[in-house]
Amino acid sequence: RAALEREAARAPAVTRDGREVEVGANIGSAAEARLAAEAGADGIGLMRSEFLFLERSSAPDEDDQHREYQAAVDALDGKPVIIRTLDIGADKQLPYLRLPVVPNPALGVRGARLWQSHPELLDTQLRALLRVSAPERLRIMVPMIADAGELAWVRGRLEGLAESLGLTRLPALGAMIEVPSAALGARRLAAEADFLSIGTNDLTQYTLAMDREEPRLAARADVLHPAVLALIEATVKGAAGACPVGVCGAAAGDDLAGPLLVALGVDELSVEPARVPSLKAALRRLDAAALAETVPELRALDDAAAVRQRLTAWFATDA
Ligand code: PEP
Ligand code: MG
Repeated sequence: RAALEREAARAPAVTRDGREVEVGANIGSAAEARLAAEAGADGIGLMRSEFLFLERSSAPDEDDQHREYQAAVDALDGKPVIIRTLDIGADKQLPYLRLPVVPNPALGVRGARLWQSHPELLDTQLRALLRVSAPERLRIMVPMIADAGELAWVRGRLEGLAESLGLTRLPALGAMIEVPSAALGARRLAAEADFLSIGTNDLTQYTLAMDREEPRLAARADVLHPAVLALIEATVKGAAGACPVGVCGAAAGDDLAGPLLVALGVDELSVEPARVPSLKAALRRLDAAALAETVPELRALDDAAAVRQRLTAWFATDA
């Protein structure tokens, strides 16, 4: 029975109406990449590289980083691995990177914006990533992108470093969609990016102006708010035909939001490794086209609580 379950976890997730959905895993280290592979993940949808930079007195050097990234790619045995460049600022801080204290760090110099003030830190990371063998399996993802120009700038940087290393084959380069302007500008971003991945944790925070760290707002800072759903739809529509769209925020693993994201047209969901088998099982029970028929109705509701209620009722009758 255990063997049967493992086989089901490794098989692709195909919905009842024939949509194949990639189910990836979110990890913070190469050790977790091995767990993800064992759990049956179709790839890594998000490796948060920050973890490599934590609990030390200085940033890891290029060789240390390269070893960790290579080990993560190797652990997935040919499946795609998305590694996110350093996402520091606001809720994510490093002890040796003294960022100036500002009134609104969530709106400050963070994520990809750090390149301007700390170019060496991020260039070292790109070099470590570029040196990974099997670049066709590696995908580099940039956090906190606000518009296509920012991603074009990173691509220029990546190509310049590749040239200096004498490399001709480059990994795919994608943008996280976690700022409303990026969702609204998805068409232009999709023309510049090889893939997009929606970070619903930050997209929800920035759409609703509700701090993701504020416990008093936690119940209302919900991805199922109709306004957040509208931005997710805008992203999928904007990217249509140009590049694939995934979701790597916590919403991907939410029992109601995960299936809805697929109904909205998302191609890939990435969740904690332990959630991979149950998410695949849930997707196999889903009629995504039937759920998609409820979307106009959901979009017309007032708030996330109403959407949750409607979805719960839909699953009780249809699933
Ligand atoms: C997100 O914002 O949804 C995301 C996946 O990134 P993080 O949670 O690391 O900010
Ligand atoms: Mg984020």
